[in-house]
Amino acid sequence: MSEKRRFRGNQRSVTAYIGLGSNVGDRVGFVQQAVQLLKDIPRIKVLECSSLYETEPVGDEYAEWFVNAVLAIETELTCEELLDVLKDIEARLNELNKVVDRPRSPGRMRIIDLDILFFGNEVHGTSYLTVPHPRVHRRAFALVPLLEIAPDMVHPSLGKTVAQLHDELPEPEQVLLYGTRRPDECHG
Ligand code: AMP
Repeated sequence: MSEKRRFRGNQRSVTAYIGLGSNVGDRVGFVQQAVQLLKDIPRIKVLECSSLYETEPVGDEYAEWFVNAVLAIETELTCEELLDVLKDIEARLNELNKVVDRPRSPGRMRIIDLDILFFGNEVHGTSYLTVPHPRVHRRAFALVPLLEIAPDMVHPSLGKTVAQLHDELPEPEQVLLYGTRRPDECHG
């Protein structure tokens, strides 16, 4: 077992779900790079990846469609430490790709957006970090990939499963399976 997979026995580990999205340039490539960077973090083990989905932007009529996926990870990091890791990966991918040929669009463009959707059963909210993610139960682009890898996950404050929350979406945005490719080979 490699060093990065070895978890210290006395430390609590948590299963968390991370949402990934990109809507500019090589969207699939940016999601794949983010997965690879997460796999390289010593105290994060990627357990499972959803398929890739192409999704309609919500709340911004000028934005381009996103490519989204969700990962299940196991981690010994705290929720705040995990958010710092995600922000660091976002910053690194933004910096590496700042010359990406961006279309002239008034809409929101994201090379990569990484969100903590669930962090075990933890519920807390500060101005810096809210878990579960405050919009996870309202977004098909998060719930559809979650349905694939964690349909029975119970939202700790709403008390409903991912499958129930998905069924109850009033007006889900369009979420299309993006071929059969996965963001990365997660196992092994
Ligand atoms: P956005 O650019 O819309 O993805 O928002 C990013 C900001 O949301 C970050 O600065 C975080 O501090 C904050 N935030 C609050 N809760 C979360 C969460 N569960 N996952 C990721 N970012 C979060």
